[in-house]
Amino acid sequence: MIQHPVSTVWRDRQSPPVRGRLHAFATGRGRRPRRIAMLSVHTSPLHQPGTGDAGGMNVYIVELAKRLAGLGVEVEVFTRTTASDLPPIVELAPGVLVRHVTAGPYEGLVKEDLPAQLCAFTHGVLRTEAGHRPGHYDLVHSHYWLSGQVGWLAAERWGVPLVHTMHTMAKVKNAALAQGDTPEPAARVIGETQVVEAADRLIANTSDEAGELSSHYGARTDQLAVVHPGVNLEVFRPGDQRAARARLGLPEGAAVLLFAGRIQPLKAPDVLLKAVAVLLERRPELREKLVVPVVGGPSGTGLAEPKSLQKLAAQLGIGDVVRFHPPVGQSELAQWYRAATALVMPSYSESFGLVALEAQACGTPVVAAAVGGLPVAVRDGETGALVRGHDPGDWARALEPYVTRPELVARQGAAAARHAAGFGWGAAAASTAEVYAGALARPAGRLGGARRRLV
Ligand code: UDP
Repeated sequence: MIQHPVSTVWRDRQSPPVRGRLHAFATGRGRRPRRIAMLSVHTSPLHQPGTGDAGGMNVYIVELAKRLAGLGVEVEVFTRTTASDLPPIVELAPGVLVRHVTAGPYEGLVKEDLPAQLCAFTHGVLRTEAGHRPGHYDLVHSHYWLSGQVGWLAAERWGVPLVHTMHTMAKVKNAALAQGDTPEPAARVIGETQVVEAADRLIANTSDEAGELSSHYGARTDQLAVVHPGVNLEVFRPGDQRAARARLGLPEGAAVLLFAGRIQPLKAPDVLLKAVAVLLERRPELREKLVVPVVGGPSGTGLAEPKSLQKLAAQLGIGDVVRFHPPVGQSELAQWYRAATALVMPSYSESFGLVALEAQACGTPVVAAAVGGLPVAVRDGETGALVRGHDPGDWARALEPYVTRPELVARQGAAAARHAAGFGWGAAAASTAEVYAGALARPAGRLGGARRRLV
């Protein structure tokens, strides 16, 4: 096991012989690919995160791809065309291309429709590669199970390793559903199991996620690598809270409990609202200073009733305290974090929870559910608080000190900024490049060292 500042890589103890690769180049720590195909079928790195299907994975791909390019690994991201005016190729950053693939109608398809378009998408990816000299891509890195299905075939066809990141897993989500939420279908579980079997490396956000990959899906240790995601420390950095509040129209002396992200049952923004109602019942004098902004848009099963949170705020009698704002770009979001007293994340499940890192990087403590990657992102009692369960009374108790004790907020905010500073995307990209090097040297998927081009 090799320790990195922010990652752990499990290595194969009985490695097959290193294969010669035309385009991989040697580095001090292993052979990195020269160019990779990154697959993001269901959502584009060009989409605005915080609503619909765009969230942490989009930010992850953008940041990782840029940093990999900085390390000399060219990245071409394949994503589905979702509008008629999109150019076939967009340069996202130097060394990073986004390739739009036509697979089904541009508009009107939801994520659940996409399994039927995977053949068309794969066709587009293979055609693109066929237009180049053989060996154009040294490796495939797929994101989410839908892309994994495409990556499985493309990697085998090209004779290159498949590295896969799940982002979320059906079995894990289904084990922690909000009341009344719709479970993920069995077809997704089957698809994920196939991808796990085919992948040479599976990148997990945390060692807990690596454990879930092996216990739920049978992943082997020689496939597993843990790389903590990062935070863009240039965008998300501490700043002037007063200026941020003035800009956002928030009162200077307010206690601001912020929710940021996709509005869906899994993220449990309703628990925050219910907790605020309990808190105000116990401490009515706090009403004057309390502001609860919800920044983001409906997503997933939350789309069925996009206004349900507004209705809930009204039913709870806190419509005057809660403010709804559509999703914003990353720099604007940094202003929201700076303006906040605390970020609140009552999620039922989170594979990591990037907003927790982003808020902390801006010097804001985070009150989060003790689920998924959040116990890694947040240090309980030091950079925020971790809450077990989803009882609004417990959440009200956890939030109260952040509303009433400015010295606690200041102390934890400073510690949060120091903690988040250890999670740069540069380190995440360097660790990911090492995983690539390991996959090139010692493939560990279904075909392992015996991988060969499908003809
Ligand atoms: N985000 C954003 N604008 C918004 C709300 C969220 O850009 O208005 C971004 C945020 O910066 C974060 C991502 O959306 O990087 C959400 O990631 P997270 O891992 O917290 O949740 P996910 O969407 O992956 O479930």
